[in-house]
Amino acid sequence: MTDLQTHRPPAVTQDGLFVGGRWTGAAHGGVYPTVNPADGTVIAEVADGSAADIDAAVRAARRAFDEGPWPRMSGHERSRILLAVADLIERDAEELARLDTADMGKPISFTRVENGLVAAAVYRYYAGLASQSHGSTHDCMGPGFAYVLREPIGVIGAITPFNVPLLLSATKIAPALAAGNTLVHKPSETTPLSALKIARLFAEAGLPEGVLNVVTGTGAGPGIALVAHPGVDKIAFTGSNLVGQDIIRASADTLKKVSVELGGKSANIVFADAYLDEAIEHAFNGIFIGSGQICIAGSRLLVQRPVYDQVVDALVERAEATMPGDPMDPATLIGPLAHQAQFEKVSGYVRTGLREGAELVSGGQSHHPQGPDSGWYFQPTIFKGRNDMQIAQEEIFGPVLTVIPFDTDDEAVALANGTKFGLASGVHTSDIKRAHAVAAAMRAGTCWINTYHQWDPGISFGGRKASGYGRELGPEVMSSYTELKSVWVDLPARSGGGIG
Ligand code: NAD
Repeated sequence: MTDLQTHRPPAVTQDGLFVGGRWTGAAHGGVYPTVNPADGTVIAEVADGSAADIDAAVRAARRAFDEGPWPRMSGHERSRILLAVADLIERDAEELARLDTADMGKPISFTRVENGLVAAAVYRYYAGLASQSHGSTHDCMGPGFAYVLREPIGVIGAITPFNVPLLLSATKIAPALAAGNTLVHKPSETTPLSALKIARLFAEAGLPEGVLNVVTGTGAGPGIALVAHPGVDKIAFTGSNLVGQDIIRASADTLKKVSVELGGKSANIVFADAYLDEAIEHAFNGIFIGSGQICIAGSRLLVQRPVYDQVVDALVERAEATMPGDPMDPATLIGPLAHQAQFEKVSGYVRTGLREGAELVSGGQSHHPQGPDSGWYFQPTIFKGRNDMQIAQEEIFGPVLTVIPFDTDDEAVALANGTKFGLASGVHTSDIKRAHAVAAAMRAGTCWINTYHQWDPGISFGGRKASGYGRELGPEVMSSYTELKSVWVDLPARSGGGIG
């Protein structure tokens, strides 16, 4: 039997770091294990990159930008390579799905979609925009005219988190390369495998050397070094608030551009007039998909008082029937947490919720579908609580839902906006006017009406307030990977010189 017919992770090619179009070991020769959170087994030894490796990767990316063909190619030519990568992602989608499922614990039924169809769609979308990124021409005051060019920025440093490894790297790599930049990617130290595989696919697609480089390792090692490197023009970061703030501070020394996509504590509002069966389905999936390890997880559920008990009871029944299981099993809806630190963080917040008086109505315990003490599994957990509790204010990033009652529309809006975050929100109601009024009042980058977790490469995504700044996806993101240059031209006819 092959790996693809079993629940085993795929065999991993241990190539090291991808720098200047070549595979190489870490400069100091170190490796570290990447571990399967479902059973604690080592999947592969990964190169433990350092500042020296970042320096080599940035120099390669710099050379590719300053001297190589990529920024000088037409958008149409860049588009062909991005389209070829999309085809290769679809060809190898099963392997890509198994890599992230093994590395991170997200169920295979999700990674098959995320790492196949959806990731390919992101590369195709930006392949389409590669030839559309143009400037403008202006008639101006005084003699002459001006045209404004849209040019690539230079070397991009992309730093990504553990939770959606392949897709979140695609949302940075695809627009950055489409615009003609070169890039150094530092994936999460705990989920680096699909990033290495994507580098292999780019090489196969014919990407010129040095345009994409991948350095694995920790935040304290290659992460900090990438942010500090003077050869990097922009950092595109997705991750936690504390690290995002560190990166903003550190980037000031070299005056880099920075975009930061950070955490969330998103509110999902259910009015009494909602289509309740559908609303309950979206509320459940909104938090428990990915074991709550999704930045946009609907971790605060605001329910209008007349249906509060009915909604809580239905969620509890659903949660008790959906215990986490083997993520390689296509029937599994909820897998393990991604690593031990996540498990400890979630367990700690459950203790906090109990200490601050929230009522635990479901879950709250670890779970071991593969035998005692095997894997970082946690039950779907539901608290009845208040918005001012720590479990309702802080990002837990795990399968923990706090359900909060409300009476009026104004109260729902105030509660929904009543955290430091502003990433996403949801509203469930059969009243169309109420739905749009609430959506307009949300201080969040996304609002879903009678749905949740919808996502498309063409629709802008990002946060407000403490959830970060800058946007990903959509056509607008091309402007965050380009710079403007104004070129003034004297027109002899206008300045009195005449023709000829
Ligand atoms: P994290 O901030 O711990 O790590 C993210 C990345 O930053 C990793 O690659 C890490 O190695 C690197 N890093 C750590 N310290 C660094 C430093 N000082 N300098 C440079 N790089 C450093 O986040 P995580 O635990 O991997 O991911 C979870 C977080 O990501 C959650 O807060 C979640 O909400 C957020 N997230 C946000 C979005 C979004 O689009 N807004 C999407 C996914 C995840």
